[in-house]
Amino acid sequence: MKVPGIKGFRDVLPEEAALRRRLIERSRGVLESYGFAEIEIPLMERGELFARSVGSTSDIVEKEMYAFEDRDGALIALRPEGTASVVRAYLEAGLSRAMPIARLYYLGPMFRRERPQKGRFRQFTQIGAEFLGRDDPEADAETLCLVADICEAVELPGYRIEVNSLGDSECRPAYRKALVEFGRAKFDELCDDCKARLERNPLRLLDCKNEQCAEVTADAPMMIDHLCAPCKTHHGRVLELASGLGVELEHNPRMVRGLDYYCRTAFEVSAEGLGAQGAVGGGGRYDGLVAELGGPEQAGIGFAFGVERMQLASTDDEPAPGLDILVAPLAEEAAGVALSLARRLRRADWKVEVGASDKKLKAQLKRADKIGVRYAVLLGPDEVAAGRATVRNLAARSDHAGCFALDATAEEIGRELEGTNQGEA
Ligand code: AMP
Repeated sequence: MKVPGIKGFRDVLPEEAALRRRLIERSRGVLESYGFAEIEIPLMERGELFARSVGSTSDIVEKEMYAFEDRDGALIALRPEGTASVVRAYLEAGLSRAMPIARLYYLGPMFRRERPQKGRFRQFTQIGAEFLGRDDPEADAETLCLVADICEAVELPGYRIEVNSLGDSECRPAYRKALVEFGRAKFDELCDDCKARLERNPLRLLDCKNEQCAEVTADAPMMIDHLCAPCKTHHGRVLELASGLGVELEHNPRMVRGLDYYCRTAFEVSAEGLGAQGAVGGGGRYDGLVAELGGPEQAGIGFAFGVERMQLASTDDEPAPGLDILVAPLAEEAAGVALSLARRLRRADWKVEVGASDKKLKAQLKRADKIGVRYAVLLGPDEVAAGRATVRNLAARSDHAGCFALDATAEEIGRELEGTNQGEA
């Protein structure tokens, strides 16, 4: 009986893997060009890390976290996001003292028990960055510029970066109160989700997907109109610097982000062709988080892109790089010679597959065609006896065959293979 995979946990088959690798490598290249260094964080953490950082009233912790009791009674969670782990690692390694300004990036799977649908999985991959130790608007502008450069590098079609300011511990409490009062006055018209979270997480009123909620909250108070003077100055300077860098931003006063730890600058990246799950990435400033997790008062700003969403939006259809050579032993006595020849060619950077010696010439050539190799190197009993191999150039589709001595160097063999290209159209 077949055992199916788990809903929301998908396999990445080879044809997809090449695109993912390109998207990741390009993002990584941009991150490293900005001086970000890779950090690897574990897949599991203590559950309380996320309750304290992401927030116990966030959907992620309240409804979506994979948490379980370990054999020793500890509450363990599969990480739903990367920021909390990076900050924990940064504190635990003493980096807040040794390297107070740190630029770190991570890559890997995250787990959220959301309802699976197109572009939304229970295991998905994020590439994210954290810029710790700076609270100045230049850090925000540089981060937004980095986000835009990643979008450019992965050629995200029609990408948009929306920004908002979420205020800080000075101005947000009063705004929050004003929003709760607004919500209470319209309580009967809100959806059940909004009713339930009004007192605990009122900001979510603003990004509720329910159409009636959107109408009801059309004239709700907005954070941007309640910013204190320092937050207002910070926000203005971020926009000014970003604009000077040519980074296009769209102001979205309703964008609040789902996580409790954000303050001031928050942003979300979307792209064309994603439908309902339009967000490719998101992030923001989280100045209280390091202290919340037991560290010093240290600022931070970060973001994460979803690799699956990048894939969905991407129009890159470059085929996966194929193999170069099939070495085809045509008799049992040729098998060992074929394996050793293939090894020599691989060491000279050719991509080589070795056929099965019990297959006939026709089947070997069919296989060569299927895997799309350029050259078939044939090793029959006669060839082995004579210490030579025959080469067919399959890409050139000519009958021109070459041959080379089995004790030739990889360079000599390479020249012989190239020589068979002369029949090519
Ligand atoms: P968040 O940490 O919620 O801001 O998410 C950052 C990015 O991760 C999103 O913009 C998506 O690209 C991606 N992402 C979040 N949740 C999922 C999911 N369930 N499935 C696929 N990608 C996701």
